[in-house]
Amino acid sequence: MTFAHDPFITLGLHRDASREEVKRAYRRLAMRWHPDRNPSAAAESEFKRIKAAYELLLDPQAYAEWNAARQAAADSAGSASTGAAEPAAAGATDVTQRLDLTLAEAAHGCQKTIELTRSARCPTCAGSGRVHHAHSVPCAQCSGCGRVRGERGGTRVCAGCAGRGYLREADCTDCTGSGWRTHTRTLAVRVPAGVLDGERLRLARQAKAAGDGAAGDLYLELRIAAHPLFALHGRDLHCTVPVSIFRLLLGGRIDVPTLDGLAPLDLPPGGAPEYAGESGAGAELRLPGRGFPKKHGRGAGDLLVRLQPVYPTQLGAADAKLLEKLEAGLHGNLARRAPALAEWKALLAGLAVDGAS
Ligand SMILES: [Zn+2]
Ligand SMILES: [Zn+2]
Repeated sequence: MTFAHDPFITLGLHRDASREEVKRAYRRLAMRWHPDRNPSAAAESEFKRIKAAYELLLDPQAYAEWNAARQAAADSAGSASTGAAEPAAAGATDVTQRLDLTLAEAAHGCQKTIELTRSARCPTCAGSGRVHHAHSVPCAQCSGCGRVRGERGGTRVCAGCAGRGYLREADCTDCTGSGWRTHTRTLAVRVPAGVLDGERLRLARQAKAAGDGAAGDLYLELRIAAHPLFALHGRDLHCTVPVSIFRLLLGGRIDVPTLDGLAPLDLPPGGAPEYAGESGAGAELRLPGRGFPKKHGRGAGDLLVRLQPVYPTQLGAADAKLLEKLEAGLHGNLARRAPALAEWKALLAGLAVDGAS
Protein backbone atom coordinates (compact mmCIF):
# COMPACT_ATOMS: atom_id res chain seq x y z
CA MET A 1 0.00 0.00 0.00
CA THR A 2 1.46 3.34 -1.03
CA PHE A 3 1.51 6.41 1.15
CA ALA A 4 -0.91 8.06 -1.26
CA HIS A 5 -3.68 5.90 0.14
CA ASP A 6 -4.32 6.56 3.79
CA PRO A 7 -6.28 3.50 4.96
CA PHE A 8 -8.64 5.58 7.13
CA ILE A 9 -9.47 7.85 4.21
CA THR A 10 -9.84 4.88 1.87
CA LEU A 11 -12.44 3.36 4.18
CA GLY A 12 -14.07 6.73 4.87
CA LEU A 13 -13.33 6.52 8.60
CA HIS A 14 -12.19 8.99 11.21
CA ARG A 15 -8.85 8.24 12.81
CA ASP A 16 -10.16 6.85 16.07
CA ALA A 17 -12.59 4.46 14.42
CA SER A 18 -13.15 1.27 16.40
CA ARG A 19 -12.33 -2.20 15.12
CA GLU A 20 -16.06 -2.79 14.63
CA GLU A 21 -16.40 0.40 12.59
CA VAL A 22 -13.44 -0.68 10.45
CA LYS A 23 -15.09 -4.03 9.80
CA ARG A 24 -18.44 -2.47 9.00
CA ALA A 25 -16.92 0.07 6.62
CA TYR A 26 -14.98 -2.67 4.89
CA ARG A 27 -18.02 -4.91 4.49
CA ARG A 28 -20.07 -2.08 3.05
CA LEU A 29 -17.37 -1.03 0.57
CA ALA A 30 -16.42 -4.60 -0.34
CA MET A 31 -20.05 -5.32 -1.23
CA ARG A 32 -20.03 -2.28 -3.43
CA TRP A 33 -16.71 -2.81 -5.16
CA HIS A 34 -16.19 -6.54 -5.37
CA PRO A 35 -15.43 -7.25 -9.04
CA ASP A 36 -17.98 -10.07 -9.01
CA ARG A 37 -20.67 -7.54 -8.18
CA ASN A 38 -19.42 -4.35 -9.74
CA PRO A 39 -18.83 -4.40 -13.49
CA SER A 40 -17.06 -1.03 -13.68
CA ALA A 41 -13.47 -0.92 -14.92
CA ALA A 42 -12.26 0.62 -11.68
CA ALA A 43 -13.83 -2.05 -9.49
CA GLU A 44 -10.88 -4.42 -9.27
CA SER A 45 -8.30 -1.81 -8.31
CA GLU A 46 -10.72 -0.10 -5.97
CA PHE A 47 -11.54 -3.38 -4.28
CA LYS A 48 -7.82 -4.17 -3.85
CA ARG A 49 -7.27 -0.73 -2.35
CA ILE A 50 -10.14 -1.22 0.09
CA LYS A 51 -8.94 -4.70 1.05
CA ALA A 52 -5.35 -3.48 1.58
CA ALA A 53 -6.61 -0.63 3.76
CA TYR A 54 -8.76 -3.01 5.78
CA GLU A 55 -5.94 -5.51 6.34
CA LEU A 56 -3.59 -2.72 7.38
CA LEU A 57 -6.06 -1.31 9.91
CA LEU A 58 -6.83 -4.71 11.41
CA ASP A 59 -3.15 -5.25 12.21
CA PRO A 60 -2.03 -2.52 14.66
CA GLN A 61 1.62 -3.55 14.30
CA ALA A 62 1.49 -3.29 10.49
CA TYR A 63 -0.34 0.03 10.66
CA ALA A 64 2.26 1.45 13.08
CA GLU A 65 5.04 0.37 10.71
CA TRP A 66 3.25 1.84 7.71
CA ASN A 67 2.71 5.11 9.55
CA ALA A 68 6.37 5.30 10.62
CA ALA A 69 7.54 4.60 7.07
CA ARG A 70 5.23 7.29 5.73
CA GLN A 71 6.56 9.78 8.26
CA ALA A 72 10.15 8.89 7.36
CA ALA A 73 9.43 9.28 3.64
CA ALA A 74 7.81 12.66 4.24
CA ASP A 75 10.77 13.80 6.38
CA SER A 76 13.41 12.77 3.86
CA ALA A 77 11.41 14.35 1.05
CA GLY A 78 11.21 17.53 3.07
CA SER A 79 14.97 17.71 3.63
CA ALA A 80 15.72 16.79 0.01
CA SER A 81 13.69 19.59 -1.50
CA THR A 82 15.73 22.66 -2.26
CA GLY A 83 14.94 26.30 -2.81
CA ALA A 84 12.45 28.47 -1.03
CA ALA A 85 9.64 25.97 -1.19
CA GLU A 86 6.54 26.80 0.75
CA PRO A 87 5.73 24.27 3.44
CA ALA A 88 2.66 22.23 2.65
CA ALA A 89 -0.52 23.40 4.30
CA ALA A 90 -1.38 21.80 7.62
CA GLY A 91 -3.57 18.75 7.22
CA ALA A 92 -2.74 18.36 3.54
CA THR A 93 -1.64 14.94 2.33
CA ASP A 94 1.42 14.60 0.14
CA VAL A 95 1.25 12.21 -2.74
CA THR A 96 4.03 10.22 -4.35
CA GLN A 97 3.66 8.98 -7.88
CA ARG A 98 6.11 7.14 -10.09
CA LEU A 99 7.30 8.69 -13.35
CA ASP A 100 9.03 6.48 -15.91
CA LEU A 101 11.71 7.99 -18.12
CA THR A 102 13.98 6.71 -20.85
CA LEU A 103 17.71 7.21 -20.34
CA ALA A 104 17.69 9.91 -23.05
CA GLU A 105 14.79 11.74 -21.38
CA ALA A 106 16.60 11.68 -18.05
CA ALA A 107 19.84 12.84 -19.66
CA HIS A 108 18.46 15.68 -21.75
CA GLY A 109 15.40 16.63 -19.74
CA CYS A 110 11.91 16.47 -21.16
CA GLN A 111 8.29 17.54 -20.91
CA LYS A 112 5.94 14.88 -19.61
CA THR A 113 2.19 14.82 -19.24
CA ILE A 114 1.13 12.86 -16.21
CA GLU A 115 -2.28 11.69 -15.11
CA LEU A 116 -3.20 12.23 -11.51
CA THR A 117 -5.93 10.02 -10.17
CA ARG A 118 -7.24 11.05 -6.81
CA SER A 119 -10.15 9.88 -4.76
CA ALA A 120 -12.20 12.46 -2.98
CA ARG A 121 -15.28 12.34 -0.86
CA CYS A 122 -18.39 12.40 -3.02
CA PRO A 123 -19.87 15.90 -2.74
CA THR A 124 -23.40 14.66 -3.37
CA CYS A 125 -23.52 12.50 -0.25
CA ALA A 126 -20.64 14.12 1.67
CA GLY A 127 -18.85 10.78 1.63
CA SER A 128 -21.57 8.79 3.37
CA GLY A 129 -22.56 6.84 0.26
CA ARG A 130 -26.23 7.39 1.18
CA VAL A 131 -28.73 10.04 0.22
CA HIS A 132 -31.96 10.82 2.03
CA HIS A 133 -35.19 11.09 0.16
CA ALA A 134 -37.47 13.98 0.92
CA HIS A 135 -40.31 11.46 0.98
CA SER A 136 -39.97 7.76 1.60
CA VAL A 137 -39.98 5.61 -1.52
CA PRO A 138 -41.00 1.96 -1.93
CA CYS A 139 -38.16 -0.54 -1.58
CA ALA A 140 -37.14 -1.78 -5.02
CA GLN A 141 -36.20 -5.26 -3.75
CA CYS A 142 -39.60 -6.14 -2.30
CA SER A 143 -41.72 -3.65 -4.27
CA GLY A 144 -42.85 -2.17 -0.96
CA CYS A 145 -44.29 -5.25 0.69
CA GLY A 146 -41.39 -5.80 3.12
CA ARG A 147 -40.95 -9.51 2.35
CA VAL A 148 -39.29 -11.40 -0.49
CA ARG A 149 -39.49 -14.98 -1.72
CA GLY A 150 -37.33 -17.32 0.37
CA GLU A 151 -34.96 -19.96 -1.03
CA ARG A 152 -37.06 -22.93 0.09
CA GLY A 153 -40.46 -21.50 -0.70
CA GLY A 154 -42.34 -19.16 1.58
CA THR A 155 -41.09 -15.67 2.22
CA ARG A 156 -38.53 -13.95 4.39
CA VAL A 157 -37.97 -10.43 5.61
CA CYS A 158 -36.57 -8.16 2.87
CA ALA A 159 -32.92 -7.31 3.58
CA GLY A 160 -33.10 -4.14 1.49
CA CYS A 161 -35.54 -2.36 3.81
CA ALA A 162 -35.46 -4.56 6.93
CA GLY A 163 -39.11 -5.39 6.32
CA ARG A 164 -40.34 -1.81 6.38
CA GLY A 165 -41.27 -1.84 2.69
CA TYR A 166 -40.16 1.73 2.17
CA LEU A 167 -36.87 3.57 2.35
CA ARG A 168 -35.98 7.02 3.57
CA GLU A 169 -32.51 6.79 2.09
CA ALA A 170 -30.77 5.05 -0.77
CA ASP A 171 -27.33 4.54 -2.23
CA CYS A 172 -25.95 7.71 -3.69
CA THR A 173 -26.08 7.30 -7.45
CA ASP A 174 -23.18 9.68 -8.08
CA CYS A 175 -20.70 7.41 -6.27
CA THR A 176 -22.69 4.12 -6.44
CA GLY A 177 -22.78 4.18 -2.67
CA SER A 178 -19.03 4.10 -2.07
CA GLY A 179 -18.87 7.66 -0.76
CA TRP A 180 -15.84 8.29 -2.96
CA ARG A 181 -15.33 9.60 -6.42
CA THR A 182 -12.25 9.24 -8.55
CA HIS A 183 -11.01 12.27 -10.41
CA THR A 184 -8.37 12.22 -13.09
CA ARG A 185 -6.57 15.31 -14.22
CA THR A 186 -3.50 15.81 -16.35
CA LEU A 187 -0.50 17.88 -15.46
CA ALA A 188 2.40 19.00 -17.65
CA VAL A 189 5.73 18.46 -15.92
CA ARG A 190 9.16 19.67 -16.97
CA VAL A 191 11.86 17.18 -16.02
CA PRO A 192 15.29 18.88 -15.84
CA ALA A 193 18.33 17.40 -17.58
CA GLY A 194 20.60 15.05 -15.64
CA VAL A 195 18.12 13.50 -13.22
CA LEU A 196 19.00 10.08 -11.84
CA ASP A 197 16.99 6.96 -11.08
CA GLY A 198 15.22 7.16 -7.73
CA GLU A 199 15.30 10.96 -7.54
CA ARG A 200 12.13 12.73 -6.53
CA LEU A 201 10.71 15.86 -8.11
CA ARG A 202 8.59 17.97 -5.83
CA LEU A 203 5.61 19.83 -7.25
CA ALA A 204 4.42 22.10 -4.49
CA ARG A 205 0.70 21.96 -3.74
CA GLN A 206 -0.12 19.86 -6.76
CA ALA A 207 -1.52 16.92 -4.81
CA LYS A 208 -4.91 18.53 -4.65
CA ALA A 209 -7.68 16.13 -3.86
CA ALA A 210 -10.71 17.49 -5.70
CA GLY A 211 -13.11 19.16 -3.30
CA ASP A 212 -11.15 17.97 -0.30
CA GLY A 213 -9.45 20.79 1.53
CA ALA A 214 -5.84 21.91 1.25
CA ALA A 215 -3.48 20.55 -1.37
CA GLY A 216 -0.38 18.61 -0.36
CA ASP A 217 2.79 18.31 -2.38
CA LEU A 218 3.11 15.94 -5.27
CA TYR A 219 6.34 13.95 -5.42
CA LEU A 220 7.31 12.26 -8.64
CA GLU A 221 9.64 9.36 -8.04
CA LEU A 222 11.75 8.98 -11.16
CA ARG A 223 12.48 5.57 -12.67
CA ILE A 224 14.89 5.27 -15.59
CA ALA A 225 14.20 2.38 -17.94
CA ALA A 226 17.02 0.02 -18.93
CA HIS A 227 18.80 1.01 -22.13
CA PRO A 228 19.79 -1.51 -24.82
CA LEU A 229 23.36 -0.14 -25.11
CA PHE A 230 24.23 1.76 -21.96
CA ALA A 231 24.46 0.91 -18.29
CA LEU A 232 24.55 3.87 -15.94
CA HIS A 233 26.90 3.70 -12.92
CA GLY A 234 26.79 7.00 -11.08
CA ARG A 235 27.07 9.39 -14.01
CA ASP A 236 29.40 7.14 -16.01
CA LEU A 237 27.95 5.32 -18.97
CA HIS A 238 29.26 1.85 -19.70
CA CYS A 239 29.00 0.37 -23.16
CA THR A 240 30.41 -2.78 -24.75
CA VAL A 241 31.50 -2.37 -28.38
CA PRO A 242 32.37 -5.44 -30.44
CA VAL A 243 35.42 -4.91 -32.69
CA SER A 244 37.00 -7.36 -35.12
CA ILE A 245 40.35 -8.75 -34.05
CA PHE A 246 41.84 -7.41 -37.31
CA ARG A 247 40.72 -3.84 -36.56
CA LEU A 248 42.16 -4.18 -33.08
CA LEU A 249 45.46 -5.36 -34.61
CA LEU A 250 45.55 -2.69 -37.27
CA GLY A 251 44.21 0.16 -35.20
CA GLY A 252 42.06 2.83 -36.85
CA ARG A 253 38.79 4.59 -36.39
CA ILE A 254 35.64 2.96 -35.06
CA ASP A 255 32.25 4.45 -34.18
CA VAL A 256 31.06 4.28 -30.60
CA PRO A 257 27.56 5.22 -29.43
CA THR A 258 27.03 8.17 -27.11
CA LEU A 259 23.84 9.78 -25.80
CA ASP A 260 24.23 12.35 -28.60
CA GLY A 261 24.68 9.84 -31.43
CA LEU A 262 27.79 8.17 -32.83
CA ALA A 263 31.25 9.47 -31.99
CA PRO A 264 34.54 8.46 -33.65
CA LEU A 265 37.13 6.66 -31.53
CA ASP A 266 40.71 6.18 -32.81
CA LEU A 267 42.43 2.96 -31.82
CA PRO A 268 46.23 2.90 -31.99
CA PRO A 269 47.73 0.09 -34.12
CA GLY A 270 48.93 -3.14 -32.56
CA GLY A 271 46.72 -2.75 -29.52
CA ALA A 272 44.95 -6.10 -29.74
CA PRO A 273 46.66 -7.90 -26.83
CA GLU A 274 46.20 -4.86 -24.65
CA TYR A 275 42.53 -4.45 -25.57
CA ALA A 276 41.84 -8.13 -25.15
CA GLY A 277 42.79 -7.74 -21.50
CA GLU A 278 44.01 -10.46 -19.17
CA SER A 279 40.75 -12.38 -19.35
CA GLY A 280 40.22 -11.82 -23.06
CA ALA A 281 36.96 -10.08 -22.23
CA GLY A 282 38.22 -6.78 -23.58
CA ALA A 283 39.78 -3.71 -22.05
CA GLU A 284 37.98 -0.52 -21.19
CA LEU A 285 38.69 2.88 -22.73
CA ARG A 286 37.54 6.02 -20.96
CA LEU A 287 36.12 8.95 -22.91
CA PRO A 288 36.02 11.80 -20.37
CA GLY A 289 32.93 13.96 -20.33
CA ARG A 290 30.97 11.82 -22.81
CA GLY A 291 28.80 10.12 -20.18
CA PHE A 292 25.58 11.09 -18.43
CA PRO A 293 25.13 14.85 -17.96
CA LYS A 294 25.37 16.55 -14.60
CA LYS A 295 22.65 18.92 -13.45
CA HIS A 296 22.48 22.54 -14.62
CA GLY A 297 24.83 21.91 -17.56
CA ARG A 298 27.85 21.37 -15.32
CA GLY A 299 29.58 18.84 -17.54
CA ALA A 300 29.02 15.11 -17.62
CA GLY A 301 30.37 11.79 -16.40
CA ASP A 302 32.60 9.61 -18.57
CA LEU A 303 31.83 7.08 -21.26
CA LEU A 304 33.56 3.75 -20.65
CA VAL A 305 33.87 1.68 -23.79
CA ARG A 306 34.68 -1.98 -23.40
CA LEU A 307 36.19 -3.30 -26.62
CA GLN A 308 35.06 -6.85 -27.14
CA PRO A 309 37.36 -8.69 -29.58
CA VAL A 310 35.42 -10.57 -32.23
CA TYR A 311 37.17 -13.49 -33.95
CA PRO A 312 35.97 -14.31 -37.45
CA THR A 313 34.38 -17.66 -38.21
CA GLN A 314 34.07 -19.48 -41.54
CA LEU A 315 37.48 -18.62 -42.99
CA GLY A 316 37.70 -19.03 -46.76
CA ALA A 317 40.66 -20.59 -48.56
CA ALA A 318 42.04 -17.17 -49.46
CA ASP A 319 41.72 -16.01 -45.82
CA ALA A 320 43.44 -19.17 -44.61
CA LYS A 321 46.31 -18.63 -47.05
CA LEU A 322 46.77 -15.04 -45.85
CA LEU A 323 46.68 -16.10 -42.21
CA GLU A 324 49.18 -18.94 -42.80
CA LYS A 325 51.51 -16.37 -44.33
CA LEU A 326 51.09 -14.10 -41.29
CA GLU A 327 51.68 -17.02 -38.93
CA ALA A 328 54.87 -18.01 -40.78
CA GLY A 329 56.05 -14.39 -40.67
CA LEU A 330 55.43 -14.27 -36.91
CA HIS A 331 57.61 -17.34 -36.34
CA GLY A 332 60.42 -15.65 -38.30
CA ASN A 333 61.01 -13.36 -35.28
CA LEU A 334 59.14 -14.89 -32.35
CA ALA A 335 61.27 -13.44 -29.51
CA ARG A 336 60.47 -9.89 -30.55
CA ARG A 337 56.98 -10.19 -32.02
CA ALA A 338 55.40 -12.78 -29.70
CA PRO A 339 57.57 -13.17 -26.58
CA ALA A 340 54.97 -15.33 -24.82
CA LEU A 341 55.13 -17.91 -27.64
CA ALA A 342 58.95 -17.82 -27.64
CA GLU A 343 58.94 -18.52 -23.89
CA TRP A 344 56.49 -21.37 -24.32
CA LYS A 345 58.59 -22.91 -27.06
CA ALA A 346 61.66 -22.80 -24.78
CA LEU A 347 59.68 -24.52 -22.01
CA LEU A 348 58.60 -27.32 -24.36
CA ALA A 349 62.16 -27.77 -25.59
CA GLY A 350 63.40 -28.12 -21.99
CA LEU A 351 60.74 -30.78 -21.34
CA ALA A 352 61.89 -32.78 -24.38
CA VAL A 353 65.52 -32.70 -23.08
CA ASP A 354 64.43 -33.84 -19.58
CA GLY A 355 62.35 -36.65 -21.07
CA ALA A 356 65.30 -37.94 -23.11
CA SER A 357 67.78 -38.05 -20.20
ZN1 LIG B 1 -22.12 9.92 -3.19
ZN1 LIG C 1 -37.74 -4.27 0.89
